[in-house]
Amino acid sequence: MKIIRSIREMQQYANELKMSGKSIGFVPTMGFLHEGHESLMKRAKTNNDIVIVSIFVNPLQFGPNEDFDRYPRDEEHDILVAQKNNIDILFIPQVEEMYPNDRSITMDITKRTDVLCGRSRVGHFAGVITVLTKLFHLTLPSQAYFGLKDAQQFAVVDALVNDLNFPIELVPVTTVREQDGLAKSSRNVYLSEPERQEATALYQGLQFGRQLVETGTRDPDYIVNEVERFINSQTRGKIDYVELLSYPDLTPVDEVNEQVILAVAVFYEHARLIDNLIFDQNGKLTLDR
Ligand code: AMP
Repeated sequence: MKIIRSIREMQQYANELKMSGKSIGFVPTMGFLHEGHESLMKRAKTNNDIVIVSIFVNPLQFGPNEDFDRYPRDEEHDILVAQKNNIDILFIPQVEEMYPNDRSITMDITKRTDVLCGRSRVGHFAGVITVLTKLFHLTLPSQAYFGLKDAQQFAVVDALVNDLNFPIELVPVTTVREQDGLAKSSRNVYLSEPERQEATALYQGLQFGRQLVETGTRDPDYIVNEVERFINSQTRGKIDYVELLSYPDLTPVDEVNEQVILAVAVFYEHARLIDNLIFDQNGKLTLDR
C-alpha cells in the first residue's frame, strides 16, 4: 500500500493511473476507521482496479462550537485497517496544504440543506462539497463510495455531481450497525456506558416508525410524533430532530406515498448521533445493499 501525503504527488499518480486505463474507486473518510468504512472499502475493491482511501478531518465542515479539535484520530490504526483491506493508496493530505490561505471561492448549496443536519450545522455541507470537489480532482475516481448513515450527505453530493457534471458514479452503501442496531460511528467512543446502552433508541425508534408505515400509516406528522415519543421514553439523550422527508430531494411530504427518509439526530453529553432509514410507501427498505 502506498501512503501519499502530498497533493501534487497524489494528482500525478492518479493521472498516471487514469492514463494507463485503470478504474479508480475512491472512499473519502475522516479516519478513525471502523467496520462502516471497511464496508465501503470492500465494495470499492470488488468494482475497481485501484482503490484510494483518503483520511482528512476537514476543518471546513465543522462549526465553531463543534468537535474538530477533539474529533478522534488514530493514524497508525487506520493504516493497519487500510492494509488489511488491500487498499492501493492511502491519501492523507495536511490541512495546511489543502487550505493554504484565504479562499477566493466558496460553494453555495440551494437545495437539500435547509432540513435535517443542515438546519443545526450551518455551513457543514458547503464544507463537505468543497473538500470533495478538491478530493475528486486529486484522485480522479470513476466511482466514489458513501455510506447511507450520512444520507443527507449522499443527497447533497449527488446534487454536486449532477449539477457540476463530475464524471463520477456515486455508490451508496448500507449502514453498518453494532449487534444491537446502533449505527457504527467514530463518535460512538464518546458515549458513556449508560448512554451507549440507551443509544439503541435511535435505531429502534426508526424501526418503530418504519413499521407504522408497513402497517398502513401514511401521515408523516403522526409518525414523527410517535418516533419522538418512543425515543424520549427510551433515552435521556436530547432529540435534535426527527424528520420524515422525500428522498433524495429532502422535501416535505403530505403523506408517505414515495421513497422517504425517516431520520433522527440525538445529542448526548459529548456526541451527537445521527441515523436514518430510507423506505417506500410500504415500509420496505430501499437503497439497502
Ligand atoms: P466519516 O469518516 O464519518 O466521514 O465517514 C466516511 C464515510 O464512511 C462516509 O461516506 C460515511 O457515510 C461512511 N460511514 C460512516 N459510518 C458508516 C456506517 N456505520 N456504515 C456505513 N458507512 C458508514
